[in-house]
Amino acid sequence: MSTIALDVVTPNGSVFSEEDCEIIILQTKQGELGVMAGHVPTVAALKIGSLRTKIDGQFEYFAVTDGFVEIRPEKVTVLVQAGEFAEDIDTDRATAARERAEALLQQARDEKVDRYRADLALQRAVNRLDVAKHK
Ligand code: ATP
Repeated sequence: MSTIALDVVTPNGSVFSEEDCEIIILQTKQGELGVMAGHVPTVAALKIGSLRTKIDGQFEYFAVTDGFVEIRPEKVTVLVQAGEFAEDIDTDRATAARERAEALLQQARDEKVDRYRADLALQRAVNRLDVAKHK
């Protein structure tokens, strides 16, 4: 089976690099997208969500923030602010982040709180907790 390379890049550098992915499943703003070797060249915006890739018959799970993906027939490059392997997710930290964001959103009903930022923080925390279930 022909495979496709994957590189997940953040402002801190590459957080994951693999030459031989059987399939890469991404959450784009338009919906879920499965990519295999030979995919038509594409650029798409990613939403906060999971990224999963099958390597040697096994799925690996990542949590990623929003960002972009560049797809070429032989390589997928994911550009995001942050990305973590399911195994590396600190669930206590994500739970604390979710609670902070929920409290801010509650407060936002009567005060000037940046609802947009609090909502994104909530989405990141919930996503990390969901992906961490695949540890
Ligand atoms: P927090 O409020 O806990 O910092 P956040 O959503 O604001 O959460 P980000 O700005 O998305 O955090 O990420 C900052 C850095 O911390 C990134 O390198 C990211 O990979 C890492 N990170 C954030 N939350 C977690 C977590 N729960 N487990 C492991 N790494 C995390």
